[in-house]
Amino acid sequence: MQQLVIASNNAGKIREIRELVEDIELLSLKDIGFPQEIAEPFHSFEENALAKASAIYQFCGKNVFADDSGICVNALHGVPGVESAHYSGSRDDEKNLQKLLSELKGAADMSAFYKAVICLIWDGEVYYFEGICEGQIIEEKRGEGGFGYDPIFVPDGYNMTFGELPLNIKNQISHRGKAVKKMVSFLEERMR
Ligand code: IMP
Repeated sequence: MQQLVIASNNAGKIREIRELVEDIELLSLKDIGFPQEIAEPFHSFEENALAKASAIYQFCGKNVFADDSGICVNALHGVPGVESAHYSGSRDDEKNLQKLLSELKGAADMSAFYKAVICLIWDGEVYYFEGICEGQIIEEKRGEGGFGYDPIFVPDGYNMTFGELPLNIKNQISHRGKAVKKMVSFLEERMR
């Protein structure tokens, strides 16, 4: 079976991606013995995804992909966007979510979208896959599922948050689900 490294330490992301990828053996950073956090110093999802995938490709030479993602809030002109993971100054999901709610207090427009950009390095070539999921921020958390901003994000067409919706539904409509499915279709073609 072909192997593919997931260049992430984010347990929430990894859980979702594992549900979506069959027929390829997914390796974690632990599996390849990569010990530290991977830097994501740039101001676009594309550049950060490339930086993460490249760092791991240089480390092990295996096929690898990285997801860089975040939530973009329209009333805040796209913030926190690429800064979503450390919006509050720390990598703490609860603090980040509370900061977002406080920035949005009294806002008339609560619309937002999640965006995911995957950078895949396959046989030494670089490919990108993108997914977007539009929705609304709500003022109080609902649901225990998902991670990050999921308890305050209601995707368009649903009245439950990503914290309440089961993972299989989130994966059907989410930014990451869409991007991963595009990558999987690409790889199915390549491996035929
Ligand atoms: P990064 O891609 O490692 O920079 O981190 C992405 C960050 O965006 C996460 O730590 C979350 O704060 C947020 N995020 C991205 N995708 C999701 C999602 O599906 N649910 C909730 N939060 C997400």
